[in-house]
Amino acid sequence: MRSVASLDAAEARALVGVLFDLDDTVLDHGQLTLAAYGALWKLRDAGLRLVAVTGRPYSWADVVARTWPVDAAIAENGAVAIVRESGRVVVTERASATERGERSARLKEIVAAASRELPEVGLADDVAGRLTDVTWDIGEHVTVPEAQVSALMALIQRHGARTTRSSVHVHATFEVDDKATGVTRMLCETQHEDATAARHRWAYVGDSANDAPCFSAFRSTFGVANVRGAVARLSVPPRWVASRERGAGFAEIADALVRARGGPVPSGA
Ligand SMILES: [Mg+2]
Repeated sequence: MRSVASLDAAEARALVGVLFDLDDTVLDHGQLTLAAYGALWKLRDAGLRLVAVTGRPYSWADVVARTWPVDAAIAENGAVAIVRESGRVVVTERASATERGERSARLKEIVAAASRELPEVGLADDVAGRLTDVTWDIGEHVTVPEAQVSALMALIQRHGARTTRSSVHVHATFEVDDKATGVTRMLCETQHEDATAARHRWAYVGDSANDAPCFSAFRSTFGVANVRGAVARLSVPPRWVASRERGAGFAEIADALVRARGGPVPSGA
């Protein structure tokens, strides 16, 4: 990982937009700082489009898509897309009602098994807002030992589900998408992107293991400083890294991108 301070103009100017994770990337332990929110506007005022790409529930991302300066939000690690269109939002979730019901029943079996085998690990407090997956709290309100996190992820896999983790949650899902496939499909279907060109036209900023698919898929990838704690779980680390953590790191990356592009460009110019 190279310092974001050495980002070059050619790479920065090739970008049309920035994809960004929420927890511990833009958010500081769940809170949106003035610096991070200002950084979003700075990027937008520099002519870049913005898309949040989070493991958080559909219900949370719906609020982000409606109220933040973004074009869209991807929720539940790629499974749900919420896109702004003419002042409204359009929600896309690919499973049929039958598939959704079957997957929900299988997820409930995993929740029951986890509560029997690992009763000390509790569900996250955002599960009620989810459409496609289930989450356990490993670092949001409690700190779960790594041995229990590993045991939970192994249990999920034994039940045939996919699992990933962020800095705050372990996820179980029967969806096939990850953050990279989910956001790329949305870019192609709603933002008139080509799937291959998008990899060079959109940057990604993240911090954790569930960001690994995007760190691998996109060319211009950035980690806030706390990504260093997750590097051992990343098959491909981000190419650029900030010196500061979380929201301050996101603001540092935004400053570097805008500076490398040659300063603010009026929107619509
Ligand atoms: Mg994160």
